[in-house]
Amino acid sequence: MATLLDVQGLETGYGPLRILWGIDLNVSAGETVLLLGANSAGKTTLLRSLIGLLPSWRGTIRFDGERIDGFAPDQRIRRGIAFMSELGVFPTLSIDENIALGGYFLPDAQVRRRRDQLFQVFPDLAAKRRDAAGSLSGGQRKMLGIAKVLVAEPRLLLMDEPSSGLAPVFVKQVIDVLKTTIGGGTSLLIAEQNVAFLALADRGYLIDHGKVKLSGTRTELQTSSAVRETYFGL
Ligand code: ATP
Repeated sequence: MATLLDVQGLETGYGPLRILWGIDLNVSAGETVLLLGANSAGKTTLLRSLIGLLPSWRGTIRFDGERIDGFAPDQRIRRGIAFMSELGVFPTLSIDENIALGGYFLPDAQVRRRRDQLFQVFPDLAAKRRDAAGSLSGGQRKMLGIAKVLVAEPRLLLMDEPSSGLAPVFVKQVIDVLKTTIGGGTSLLIAEQNVAFLALADRGYLIDHGKVKLSGTRTELQTSSAVRETYFGL
């Protein structure tokens, strides 16, 4: 498989505070890759630097062979990278408006076509399309966040903790929705504390104190003692 995202020696932080200490990571076309790590490991910081919300201090980020670490977020988005933050949606905007924002850089006709496909996957959202996103339940809001990023048909989707704030039943729904909606042309990099997301992943990385502590296939991570220690203190 061709490498889509290639990160070498990435370092960044906030002000004088260094958070990432030389991250090496890659995602191939069509792959789903999980970033595991405890609270404050640096997962959000890594995703923010990949989309360009946080400048990198050192190292390189290549997307489809092109070096993008000096690019502004909109330049990265135009090349096919999308970022779903933990919050995911704008609560005062309607469902339709949120989805339209997700397709901001694309022709209207393409956004409408893709939106109508997504409404078939998310019938609850279709029924409430003119309502404010803030009126949705936590689970529905997360679904809207997913629809909002998928409308752009990104080549690489960066997701920050899709399970955050959700009851286990909704976490399962998010995993099921991702299983059915992701595929074909979209690669996924998901930052999660919830090991249930390993079910979706081809491979993963365990991040610890801003470094890659371990990388491996889904099965290797599922049976790894380092992962068990991080999550269960065993
Ligand atoms: P979580 O699951 O809690 O979101 P995480 O792995 O995503 O954890 P980050 O949010 O990347 O971790 O945080 C890594 C470190 O960076 C933490 O010590 C955090 O306090 C610090 N940090 C995050 N944002 C800022 C900021 N804006 N200014 C200063 N420090 C920050």
